[in-house]
Amino acid sequence: MTKTGTNDDGDATRAPPRSLALIRQLVRFDTTSRDSNLALIDWVGLYLRSHGLSFRLTHDDAGKKANLFATIGDPRRPGVVLSGHTDVVPVDGQAWSVDPWAGVVQDDRLLGRGAADMKSFLGIVLAAVPEMVAKPLAMPIHLAFSYDEEVGCIGVGRMIRDMQATGVAPGICVVGEPTGMKVVTGHKGKLAMRAHVCGREAHSALAPYAVNALEYAAEMLVELRRMQRQIAQTGPFNREYDPPYSTLHAGVLHAGTALNIVPRACTFDFEFRTVPQDDPHRLLARLQDYCAQQLLPQMRDIAPESDIRFETKSDNPGLHTEETAQIVGRIERLAQGGRGGKVAFASEAGQFQRAGFDPVICGPGFIGDAHKPDEFITFDQIRKGEAFIARIVDDARGGNDAAQ
Ligand SMILES: [Zn+2]
Repeated sequence: MTKTGTNDDGDATRAPPRSLALIRQLVRFDTTSRDSNLALIDWVGLYLRSHGLSFRLTHDDAGKKANLFATIGDPRRPGVVLSGHTDVVPVDGQAWSVDPWAGVVQDDRLLGRGAADMKSFLGIVLAAVPEMVAKPLAMPIHLAFSYDEEVGCIGVGRMIRDMQATGVAPGICVVGEPTGMKVVTGHKGKLAMRAHVCGREAHSALAPYAVNALEYAAEMLVELRRMQRQIAQTGPFNREYDPPYSTLHAGVLHAGTALNIVPRACTFDFEFRTVPQDDPHRLLARLQDYCAQQLLPQMRDIAPESDIRFETKSDNPGLHTEETAQIVGRIERLAQGGRGGKVAFASEAGQFQRAGFDPVICGPGFIGDAHKPDEFITFDQIRKGEAFIARIVDDARGGNDAAQ
């Protein structure tokens, strides 16, 4: 039997973290990436308004998701961006022992989808808003809450463009992904693509007179494997990453309806995850050259309408902050969790870096507890996150310029 919905942390000697109620409120919004996040955004907007703050929303094309951006202080001065995503990965098919959307508290832990990744960070930041607005800040604090991070860091770009359009000065940026409060300085970039291979159908008995899209897609996959073998042997290498070179991978393929029909169409999804020394667009160009020079002439000999098109699913740059950069020591001092080096997961930090900000990743909870059934965060991590944000507010008040 599990305890549900209780606000009792089971520890009579110590009160629950002060931001717990707010975090649980956020967990209760089902913001799975495929669905709208507007209920959560509306709630956050009302909360900010109740503290006298205005904010800007940037929506997706369908108007069913939004980023929220708010500034406490003067946005024209370099400040600190506290960045987090509001969406979460699905719970479909996962065996949860509790309701993932109830904000269940058990044994000094909060369980729920997004508890670690990354509604605790958002809740901790929101709980600190009363302190942020209590006295003037010498360095502004920006809240940047995005949509569609979990499906390729798709939403944040619109918010960053809006920040640039409205004259927000670039400064430092803390992306609060769960790192156990360690300061993380890098992750690989990821370019996710879909290939559409188009040939000509026929009865399979007449296969040589048709263009089998599935078989040409297979040739492209073999070429990707050839490229991967070469990269693994000759680099470029960066030993800070595991594996220490760029990786190529295909994950989904659709083609064909019956064995006795030559398939006309095939689509497959593939990705490049690149170390800083590598350019995913260079790798893509190599595959495109192979198609143009080797495959398309053969295909068009038989069926002139044959084609291979490429669709970009997401293009998220890597994060590459030098360990010697000033922000690293500064955030390490404020977070007090040490250094985390490079990580395997992607984040929005690379997009802030591309826009001229100085980002690191640092937040409460552990990525190893995320994306799984019974995702959780410990009260200890929540408290460490609260102390971190309190020190950031102090730092911003003290007038340590973000450009330093
Ligand atoms: Zn995340």
